[in-house]
Amino acid sequence: ASAASLALTLTACGQNSEGGSKEKPGDTKGATIGIAMPTKSSERWISDGKNVVKDLEAKGYKTKLVYGEDDPEQQVSQIENLITQGVKGLIIAAIDNKSLNSVLQQAADAGIPVISYDRLILGSDHVDYYASFDNEKVGKLQGQYIVDKLGLGKGAKGPFNIELFAGSNDDNNTRYFFDGAMSVLKPYMDKKQLVVRSGQTALDKVTTLRWDGATAQRRMDDILTSSYKSEKVDAVLSPYDGISIGVLSALKSDGYGSGSRPLPVITGQDAELASVKSIIGGQQTQTVYKDLRKLAEVASTMVDDLLKGKKPEVNDTKSYDNGSKVVPAYLLQPVSVDKTNYEDVLVKGGYYTDSQLK
Ligand code: BGC
Repeated sequence: ASAASLALTLTACGQNSEGGSKEKPGDTKGATIGIAMPTKSSERWISDGKNVVKDLEAKGYKTKLVYGEDDPEQQVSQIENLITQGVKGLIIAAIDNKSLNSVLQQAADAGIPVISYDRLILGSDHVDYYASFDNEKVGKLQGQYIVDKLGLGKGAKGPFNIELFAGSNDDNNTRYFFDGAMSVLKPYMDKKQLVVRSGQTALDKVTTLRWDGATAQRRMDDILTSSYKSEKVDAVLSPYDGISIGVLSALKSDGYGSGSRPLPVITGQDAELASVKSIIGGQQTQTVYKDLRKLAEVASTMVDDLLKGKKPEVNDTKSYDNGSKVVPAYLLQPVSVDKTNYEDVLVKGGYYTDSQLK
């Protein structure tokens, strides 16, 4: 162990001998909570950071918010710093869900409760609670949207050409989104009503490191060149708005969206502003909206409860096994959004104003 972590362990032991490793219930006035977010390159995480800070401040806490710029090592050292600075609770949206084991041990030694935020942290016992959305449902909504939009199951027989994109392989959510979507799409693939001309159907062939739109764009370019000389793409399963934007760029460079080549059905996730505008403008077709205000509220209430010695409310105690334990979770519901309901869901729901979407 490094000198710093040894010193930290010793301090933590001192606290432990004086009565338990967790913060004394009630003794939390003005405590600081550390919030570690993955990146500022996507709008959603910027909102998450702001929302969590606002909710914790409203509950009387101070906060320290850090962003790891999609670099797992940077995130680990940021969390180490938060622990050294004496935070009393941690809310973490991991970059690499397997890289936090030793830093979470340090948190545990210092009696700091940890909330896994949106993405499940794997391989550690020291994840107290998980606040997220029903991630499998996210994928199901994307898959079902494609099926419905193509008219499959409503008379259309296809075959339709589809290409599949998944998220980052180091994010636990990726598998849930993909499996959810495939549970809907696979029966149509088996019947050859949906055809993946690239042949890239296994999860490890379709992931997109760090959810990067430019990486997805390159992969789509390659697929168009190799597998769509005379055929056209009818649908693209995209797990996230930033990836959808990359895929759309590749398609448009190839002539889709003009003349006799309409853009394919293309899904997304997060209802990011650029993508909602793209949906209104008839480019991206769908997104999955997750109300981040609710997620922040759930996570900050969990920390508050833990520090006050209360048991946080959960609604799922079996779905999220992180390899070391089943992490008790509170899962929120995602909502499919397209041109037909964005006004109702996003504008009437107060997520965006009409003028933001102009
Ligand atoms: C989140 C998604 C997000 C993606 C990329 C996932 O873990 O659940 O909402 O689109 O990361 O940032």
